[in-house]
Order: sequence, then structure tokens, then C-alpha cells
Amino acid sequence: MRAMVLDGPGQPLRLAELPCPVPQAGQLLLAVQACGVCRTDLHLRDGELPDAVWPLVPGHEIVARVAGLGPGVRGWRQGQRVGVPWLGWTCGHCRFCTSGRENLCVQACFTGYQLPGGYAEYTLADARYCLPLPEAPAPEHLAPLLCAGLIGYRALRMAGDAGRLGIYGFGAAAHLITRPGDGASQAFALSLGACWAGGSDAPPPEPLDAALIFAPAGALVPLALRHLDKGGCVVCAGIHMSDIPGFPYAWLWGERSIRSVAHLTRADGQAFFEAIRQAPPRTEVQVFPLEQANEALEQLRRGAFQGAAVLRVAGDEAAWTAE
Ligand SMILES: [Zn+2]
Ligand SMILES: [Zn+2]
Repeated sequence: MRAMVLDGPGQPLRLAELPCPVPQAGQLLLAVQACGVCRTDLHLRDGELPDAVWPLVPGHEIVARVAGLGPGVRGWRQGQRVGVPWLGWTCGHCRFCTSGRENLCVQACFTGYQLPGGYAEYTLADARYCLPLPEAPAPEHLAPLLCAGLIGYRALRMAGDAGRLGIYGFGAAAHLITRPGDGASQAFALSLGACWAGGSDAPPPEPLDAALIFAPAGALVPLALRHLDKGGCVVCAGIHMSDIPGFPYAWLWGERSIRSVAHLTRADGQAFFEAIRQAPPRTEVQVFPLEQANEALEQLRRGAFQGAAVLRVAGDEAAWTAE
């Protein structure tokens, strides 16, 4: 099979011919159809993530078809559409796993990092961490939902039943970054249903019940806090953020809170993909062939496109749909 391999930090991805993997006990063999390109992949390639197991195949927004079942796997069938997110394995018995917070597991392993990823024609995944996906939309439109979409969903759940919700940073998770003077991004936000859009320096028309921050700029935290009503919450959804500047305690007073969101639990994933069967979200994607993964990462770094980058892995879709 063809795969894009990262040999070590700071190196470009290399196109390689690898033997097709064989599913072990509890694993699914997956024929990858599309895989999203996440900013985390860029951090991984730049050597900014510890504990990577080199060489590795990145990619944790995988849309695939089941191509084989390892011994003991139940509940999946050949040809079924499946998604593989970032959370690839947890211990099941630590204090986080046993309290509904497996996303914080002390021994968690992640897809395309310590576990095989989706920048390849085939990959393996622990069947217990795979998500059943709807048959629509197309693989390239589903892929960004496996990371950016899920984080957006968990961040939204953390906001509780906020009636007035503000989104800061409109990238892959919320769909692109709004900066002061960034009229195109603001127009895009409005086209997707926002009732107001403006630069982060402009106050929203009403105080907010919750603010979701997707941009990696710590300066947005006190700014969003100032836009909150009493009892409101600032939810930071990014993995990386620059330092948060100091601010007066009065801005936090009134039971306002600040919290972060760390990727997802399986329950989030199942609830999210169940919810989108009724109302599929629109995803704006820039599609690249598998071999152009380096180009996709560079364009992501430069912010050269709107929405999310996705690698389309050429496969025989007809073979699956004819089934
Ligand atoms: Zn990601
Ligand atoms: Zn655990």
C-alpha cells in the first residue's frame, strides 16, 4: 500500500510502499477513503509534540470502509463506513476512564501519533474506538468532522444551554479565523448562519452567555471574558495557545468561568455522528491527493485556503456502494 511516512521531527513526509497491515485481535483493517489534515499534524511534523513513535503515518480524521476484522471483533461488518478520531486507546481503569472522562486518560494513545494514522491506503484501528459514520455526505466532507467537528461539538456542549454564543477564531473547528479587518472571514461566518460577525476588537451587540475560542491567541481570553454576561463561560478549544495576558479580577467576578476542552470521548463521537444524521453540517474543504500531503500541510501553515484540508485517498468507491 501507499503511505505518507514521517521519519522524524522536522522532516518532510515521504511517499512509501508499505506492506498492507494485518488486523490483530480486536482490530479493524480499514480502507481509507479520506483523511483530514489537522494543525496537530503540522505540530507533529515540526517536532513540537513529545512521545511520538517514529517513523509514523500521521492522520487522525479518518473516513474509511471496513476491509477486514481481526479475531474477536464483533458489531462491525465488511464495507461499513467508519470514522477514526484522535483518541485511539485508553486504559479503562484510571480515575479519568472510570469517571466518564476517558479523554483525560493518563495512558491514552492517539491515532496518527502513537497509533497508525490515515495518511495511507490502509490502516488498523482498535474497533472499540471506531465510530460508525452515516453514508452521507462524501468522505472528504465527513473527514474534518472527526477532529475539528468533534472538538467544536464538545466545546459547544461545555457551553451548556447558552442562548447567546460567541465564536472567536473561525478556522477548521469553527471554520476560519476572524481578525479585525478580515471581511472575507466575517462574510463566511454570516453565510453559515452567524447572526453577527466582526473583528475580535469589536464588542458583540449583546453580552454573551458563552464564548468559544478556537484561535490560538491567548489575548482573546480576557477580551472574550469582557464580552460575557454574568455566569457566562469562556471555553478554550485549542491545544496550543499563546500566553494569556493579565486582567482585573472584576472581569471574572459574577461567576464567570474559563475552561479548556481536551479532544473527545467516545460518547461525544457517538452523540455527534448520531446528531448529524438529522442535520449534516456543511464543511468547506480543500481536497489534495494523498501524495500531496506536504503541500497540504504547507498551505495549512500559510492559511492559504478557507475551511479544512483533506487528503482524498483514491479508492474504488463503486466496489463498496455496489454491495
Ligand atoms: Zn486534529
Ligand atoms: Zn485511563
